[in-house]
Amino acid sequence: MKIELSGDIEAFKADRLSDIRKLFQSNVVPSYARFDLALDRGEGSYVWDVAGRRYLDLGGGIAVCSLGHAHPEITDALIEQSRKLLHVSNLYYTKPQGQLAEALVRLIGAGRCFFCNSGAEANEGLFKLARKFGHDTARYEIITTDGSFHGRTLAGIAATGQEKVKKGFEPMVAGFRQVPFNDLDAMRSTISPQTAAILIEAIQGESGITPATVEYLLGLRKLCDENNILLLLDEVQAGHFRTGRFQSWQRLLENAPGADQFSPDAVSMAKSLGGGFPIGAFWVRERYADVLSAGTHATTFGGTPLGCAVALKILEVIERDQLADHARQLGDFMKAEAQRLIRKFPAVLKEVRGVGLMIGLEFRTDAPGFRGNAKTPAVQVVERLHAAGVLTIPAATSVIRILPALNLIQSEAIEGLHALETVIASLEA
Ligand SMILES: *Cc1c(COP(=O)(O)O)cnc(C)c1O
Repeated sequence: MKIELSGDIEAFKADRLSDIRKLFQSNVVPSYARFDLALDRGEGSYVWDVAGRRYLDLGGGIAVCSLGHAHPEITDALIEQSRKLLHVSNLYYTKPQGQLAEALVRLIGAGRCFFCNSGAEANEGLFKLARKFGHDTARYEIITTDGSFHGRTLAGIAATGQEKVKKGFEPMVAGFRQVPFNDLDAMRSTISPQTAAILIEAIQGESGITPATVEYLLGLRKLCDENNILLLLDEVQAGHFRTGRFQSWQRLLENAPGADQFSPDAVSMAKSLGGGFPIGAFWVRERYADVLSAGTHATTFGGTPLGCAVALKILEVIERDQLADHARQLGDFMKAEAQRLIRKFPAVLKEVRGVGLMIGLEFRTDAPGFRGNAKTPAVQVVERLHAAGVLTIPAATSVIRILPALNLIQSEAIEGLHALETVIASLEA
């Protein structure tokens, strides 16, 4: 059978936004509301669209591009490993997977790692861990929190504390319940004889950057210990040195009395782990390392030599270039500047939240500039920033997120803040 392609595919160059948009309109499932931008290439914290216009990328692919775009050392790691092995199945051992697991254990604590391909899949691993852990005592329930986000698989949307991701996909996978975030009493009173685990994001990302309090994290640990249930942390967005420490709970609990013994029982990772190469992972505490025994969990592409070589290179560069401290300091600087903007434009900007290079700016929904526009304030701000040459990520209805590469430099941050100030000023009237 001869496949008819529409026209001469070689000659067809979809190099204009309108052409590319057309390709999507006829061929791509319309499950994403996309901005009217077609990106073509990147370098560091800049990307260029197909018309050659440059943007400062403060979204980092939603906290993914931890070393920015087209990092030469990532390119070299990809080339070098691809000359040896892209993939072999998990029927065999490979050195990069073993080394990456060792590195994550060194950074988190004594335990084991499982590799997969995305954040949702890492969380699926945590759900299966919890189910298996509770199985012999007939416990299966996992309590999560309002405003959380845990991925778009069927179990992921059941775990996620946002109605909009569940709508139309009922009935939900059984065994998930949500309670208010940062509310220890709500969690305590929801634990039942069926509860096997509690899962939270130490810093909620998708719903607008809300860190857990120290009391909440320590209180959850105590609750879990008292009830013999697992404490699971979703660090898919907040993890990987973005906050100044490897995982965000490590940063949030810094210098907190009684926190030195704190450890979650399992942690999911993805996004920044591969810097844009798709890889996910979960870590499980040594005590529970055997819960998922041989034959109980698997994924074809998990922990490929290629993905692991990239992830190892990223860890090496972050440590060598001291990007954790850099993220902490630059994040402090950007937050302080955002505070200044709140004082200068109190009718537009309401609050700044977050830690390190995970920053949320909440806008006042009644700011004059938002009037008469059906789009949410968050989307309006993001689009105005596009016009000013800066990419950011909307969250909820009135928050924009700054989740840049960890190697963003100060002059780039200042450039972004200037654009932000211009946009905020334009919303005053
Ligand atoms: C992005 C995200 C996920 C889902 O990750 P995918 O790679 O999109 O499946 C899960 N949890 C959190 C906290 C996230 O930010």
